[in-house]
Amino acid sequence: MLLSPHDIAGDRADLQLLLNSFSEVQVQRPVPAKLGRAFRFWKATEAKVSTSGDVANAAAGKAVIHGIKSHPVLQSLTMLVESMALIISRPLFEQLRQHGEQTYPHECCGVLVGEFDELGDKTVKTVVRCGNTRTDSPHNRYHISPAELVRVQRESRLAGYDIIGFYHSHPDHPAKWSSTDLAEAHWTGCSYVITSVEKGRAVTTNSFLLLDDDQSKRFADESLELVLNIDERAAENAGN
Ligand SMILES: [Zn+2]
Repeated sequence: MLLSPHDIAGDRADLQLLLNSFSEVQVQRPVPAKLGRAFRFWKATEAKVSTSGDVANAAAGKAVIHGIKSHPVLQSLTMLVESMALIISRPLFEQLRQHGEQTYPHECCGVLVGEFDELGDKTVKTVVRCGNTRTDSPHNRYHISPAELVRVQRESRLAGYDIIGFYHSHPDHPAKWSSTDLAEAHWTGCSYVITSVEKGRAVTTNSFLLLDDDQSKRFADESLELVLNIDERAAENAGN
C-alpha cells in the first residue's frame, strides 16, 4: 500500500486537533478518554507509515511521527505505558472467569469497557460477553464479529467510556498468549486478558498489554489489580 503525502497530512491535522484540545492542566493530568484516543491515533499513524512501501513518503511520515512524539501529552504517555495496570473489581473479574467455565470446552470471548485514567491505568467498568464466531475451531480460536464490536464501541462511547481491552479463555491450556493471539490483536494500548480453564474450572487469569514499538507489535505482561469494587480504590486514592 502506498502512502500519499495527503494521507500523512490528514493524520497530522486530525491528531493535532485532538492534541490541541488538551489544555495546559490536562497535559499534567490528561483526560482519560482523550488520552486513549490520542494514543491509538498516534499508533495507527505509525502503523500506516511503517507499512508504506513509498520511501520518500515514509521519510515524510517519520518526520510527522517525530513531531507527534515530541508533544508533551504523548511524551508523558510513552513513559507511562510500560507501567500500566488493569484495574478490575472482583465481581467483574469473576464474571469473565465464569464465562470461560460456561463455554468450556470452547473458548469464550468478550470486550472490556472502561476508562483510561490520568496515570495511564485502565479501569474496567463493564464486561461485555460476545459470541465466539469461530465455530470451525471454537476450542482453540476466538473471534468477535466486527458488527458486534462496532455495537459495543458505540454503546460504550454513549456511556462515556472506551473499549480498553478484550478477554478470552484457553480451555486446558496455560493463560499465556499464543502467536495467533498476537497476530490477531490490533488494539494497541488495550489489555488482552486470558484465563486458563482446566477441566471446566477457571484457574489462572493474566493480562497482557498490546504495544507497538518501532520494530513490531508485541505483548507486555500487565499487572492485574483486583479491587473489591471500583469505589473502594477511589476512596483509597483520596486518602493518600
Ligand atoms: Zn488465545
